[in-house]
Order: sequence, then C-alpha cells, then structure tokens
Amino acid sequence: MASVFPRFKPACRPYLAPSGADWRAQVSEAVTDPDELCRELGLASSVARAARRAAGNFKLLVPRPYLTRIRTGDPADPLLLQVLPRQLELGESPGFASDPLGEAFATRAPGLLWKYPSRALIVATRACAVHCRYCFRRHFPRHYPCGSAATGWDAALRFIAQEPTIREVILSGGDPLMVVDEELANLVEQLSHIAHLHRLRIHTRLPVMIPARVTDELLCWLRGTRLATLIVLHVNHPAEIDAAVAEAIGRLVDAGLPVLNQSVLLAGVNDSADVLAELCERLVDLRVIPYYLHQLDKVAGAAHFEVPEQAGAKLIEQVRARLPGYAVPRYVREVTGARNKVVLA
Ligand SMILES: *Cc1c(COP(=O)(O)O)cnc(C)c1O
Ligand code: SF4
Repeated sequence: MASVFPRFKPACRPYLAPSGADWRAQVSEAVTDPDELCRELGLASSVARAARRAAGNFKLLVPRPYLTRIRTGDPADPLLLQVLPRQLELGESPGFASDPLGEAFATRAPGLLWKYPSRALIVATRACAVHCRYCFRRHFPRHYPCGSAATGWDAALRFIAQEPTIREVILSGGDPLMVVDEELANLVEQLSHIAHLHRLRIHTRLPVMIPARVTDELLCWLRGTRLATLIVLHVNHPAEIDAAVAEAIGRLVDAGLPVLNQSVLLAGVNDSADVLAELCERLVDLRVIPYYLHQLDKVAGAAHFEVPEQAGAKLIEQVRARLPGYAVPRYVREVTGARNKVVLA
C-alpha cells in the first residue's frame, strides 16, 4: 500500500553566482591600503597614518564585501575596530605574548596541531581573507610550519593515519577555505581513506567575509565525503551578517551540514549583553548554533580588546536569562597544557 506521506524530494536550488562574484577575485581585491580604507569610510587621514604605523608585520587586510557593512564616518564602528590597526597595538602589555597558547609545542608534524584527545587540527594554510587585529595567530609565520597544496599535507596525513585515537580532523589555518575546492576535495578524499576517522570539522570565517566562497563545488565535496562534516563559522557582531551572508549560511545549512559559530569576546565590539543576545538570536534564526564565546587569547598587540573574565561571565548570564538554552554559547578560555578548552560560564 502506498504511504499517505509523499516521499521527501529534495528540492534542488540552482545557484547562480552574481556576475563578477568570483571569490578568488574578491580575495585579491581586498583593501590593503589604509588611505584607501579611510577615504572610502570617510575617516580622517590621521586614522590612516596611525594604521600604517601600527600594522607592523600583520598588514591591514579587509575584503570588500565586509567593508560595505562598516558604517561610514564612525571610527568606533564594531566591524571597523576588528580590522583597523590602531596605535594601541604598539603598547607593551605584560602577559601578552607572540605565541600565547604555546602552539609551537603542540605541533606534532608540519601543519598538524594535536592538543586535545580524539581531535587533531590541520593548519591547511597560513592565508586569511581578512586580518583580524585580535587574532592569536597574528605572529603565526614565525611559529607555525603549515601545509599547503604546493608542499602537501603528507606529514599531517601520515601522523593522523598512525594515531588511531584521532576520530576527528579539524581544518583550520589561517582560513582553510582560502584553499581552492579542488585541492580541499583532494585532501578530504585522502582523509576519508583513514579508517579510524569519523568526522571532519571546518573552522572558517570566509563565508562571512566573502559569501561568494560558498560555491556549488564546495557544497558538492562537503556533501560527498563519508565523514560526518560540521562547519564552525566565526561571527562576532550581528552587523557582520547582511543578506548575502545570510544566504550563504542558508546554503550551507540546506546542504545538510550542522553549522556552529564561535565568537571572540572583544572590548568595544561585542562586550554588551544586547549585542551578544542580538548576535545569538540572529544566528539561531539562520539555523546556526552558537558554540563558543572565546575569552581573548593574550596575544601581543591585542591587550586593548581584553574583557575581564568576571565581566564576560556576567554578560553570558544576562544572555542566558533572555534566550533559549541552545542559543547561548559556552564561554571558554584556552589554557596551555589543559586537555580541553576551560569553560568559564
Ligand atoms: C580549539 C581547538 C580544538 C577544538 O576544540 P573543541 O573543544 O573540540 O572545539 C582542537 N585542537 C586545537 C589545537 C584547538 O585549539
Ligand atoms: S580569520 Fe581567523 S585566523 Fe584569520 S585573522 Fe581572523 S581570527 Fe585570525
């Protein structure tokens, strides 16, 4: 007898990228010149001069789709503060170091970090589409050997293959989605041949920076692997999510992928219960689960972004009083030598 319930037919949603929306072109067209940034955002040229002085080895880098979400004429815009080098970066702050997590010691093979039981992290590339000023990998090149399509991820793959307790591989960086789909698909194919691996996780900020990165090819290889695959996005403020980002996230979720988000708690950016609650609500409305709110890692040059842990815990409690439990991220901190991220609230 035929079921009264019609069979589920997945609707194919053909996606036509808007003309000129090739993500690689958008990566290379990112703004790197502080004068250009300030001109476009209507900021004083003194802001550009300070940015030039403060940038150091970690240059200004802002992709254009993100630039369009920054309010003009507002030097305190929460999106701008994440990308604009400021004089504050040059101050010495006790306790803030260039490798705050001791990751140099967690490197088990070139491009492979293994700190926590059952999951290992491949540094797929050093490159990012944006330079976030608070990034704990901002001094990265001096500390981390990493893989690349050119040099290969062979050493990392060999290490994982020999370690049967590793069940999950995290692709990170830099931003792993800076690597083109063909090479990523190839890497994931090789990972899928390692029998003891069950899961693949991708930590990326690219769908937020350049939503055109969510290509059909990307969805195709993400869906095609036998490994259970999760995406962890990185959004810090609700204004980072415009219509194009929402659409890109929708395409990831519609492809059947669990999508989580991690944020970093940043003074002047999202250190308010209103902003955090709005962010979390916006995320769950897009079917993204808030996963972690990270306490800032004490990386040299980022001290001005620090929010004291007590204040952070209070913020999370305020958010918890407003939203359903699943919409509230865990507030965590990295502790060198710990076997997991330490939950603060
Ligand atoms: C954060 C991190 C992970 C993942 O930790 P989860 O708590 O599983 O999200 C894995 N490896 C390294 C090196 C990390 O820094
Ligand atoms: S995208 Fe991530 S890894 Fe890249 S600069 Fe920003 S925080 Fe750092």
